[in-house]
Amino acid sequence: MKRFFIGVLLFMLLLLALGGCETKPVRFQSVDTAMGTVISQQLYSVGQDPTDGVIDLLRELERKTLSRRLESAEVFQINAHAGEGGIPLTDKMGKILTDCLEVWEKSQGAFDVTICPLTELWNIDAWAAGELSGSYEIPGPEAIAHARSLCGSDKLILRMSENHTTELTLLPGMRIDLGAVGKGIAMDCLRDCLEKQDAIRAAVITVGGSVLTYGEKPDRTPWRISVTDPFDPSKACGVLTLRGSWCVSTSGDYERYVEIDGRRMHHIIDPKTGAPAQSDVRGVTILSRDGFLSDALSTACFVLGSEKGLTLAGIYGAEALFVLSDGTLVMTDGMAEYFEEK
Ligand code: AMP
Ligand code: MG
Repeated sequence: MKRFFIGVLLFMLLLLALGGCETKPVRFQSVDTAMGTVISQQLYSVGQDPTDGVIDLLRELERKTLSRRLESAEVFQINAHAGEGGIPLTDKMGKILTDCLEVWEKSQGAFDVTICPLTELWNIDAWAAGELSGSYEIPGPEAIAHARSLCGSDKLILRMSENHTTELTLLPGMRIDLGAVGKGIAMDCLRDCLEKQDAIRAAVITVGGSVLTYGEKPDRTPWRISVTDPFDPSKACGVLTLRGSWCVSTSGDYERYVEIDGRRMHHIIDPKTGAPAQSDVRGVTILSRDGFLSDALSTACFVLGSEKGLTLAGIYGAEALFVLSDGTLVMTDGMAEYFEEK
């Protein structure tokens, strides 16, 4: 009997020793660019430095799937074949566009992936924060009306072909722009990739204005994510305290814009007018477990304004925070549990 207890004791001591030997995750950090934006990362891993892998994944996503400018990308190829009948899509793109259509429908057209002729007309890609101010000419009503006639997800046809691939039909001149969901799609890809790597225990990755949190930091403290103050983008209007995996996306009128005669022209277009959206909000932050949704909804809610935006966020079970033009903050009850005003 005595021997048995000594055996158990030794076994327990061995377990304790082994537990204590487990390698502590090391923090790896990097700031780089991919997808036309700044990527900053903090990853906690018991293996090798994973930060280059993250950048490679994002660059590949842009090169193979999302880019409107690179011939190698599926979006480029879709746009190049508009008006030529059914374009076969990869499963990934079929799912993305199906999800985009659902948000278009539920947002009553405020989010529209066929917005490209308008974003090109307004030359949004050339804008940084205020860079072109002074030399920019606002498009005239006829040009806007023409571009608008080439937009509209109601004109887009997605159907399953006989060999079970999804096919997309666009009318001549139509083009798609995944700018409103690209960072969200990237967060979903990153999270899926992190989940497959046992060595990576926790991460916070910023893709432009979107933030992915993953796992728990070794010191068990929560993630603290700043929400930009649209009235002074160098400051935060508050902080989100999060644990585990989340996606946070923000859309605001301070991200890309030009200013003409004191009027701010920003990069989020209201498909109904063909011009930068004018609602009661200056910034919208969405919190969701799903990257695509957080990004799509932040853009849609910006166009819709706070009242309809709250309804839309509710339909998807996402948390929303609106910074209104008068500085007031409006948020879902769920968001209030994570958000602390500064
Ligand atoms: P975000 O910063 O996520 O709100 O996305 C803004 C980007 O989405 C713009 O730069 C455009 O490329 C695109 N975009 C602008 N307006 C819309 C809209 N109403 N629906 C979908 N995409 C849009
Ligand atoms: Mg968005």
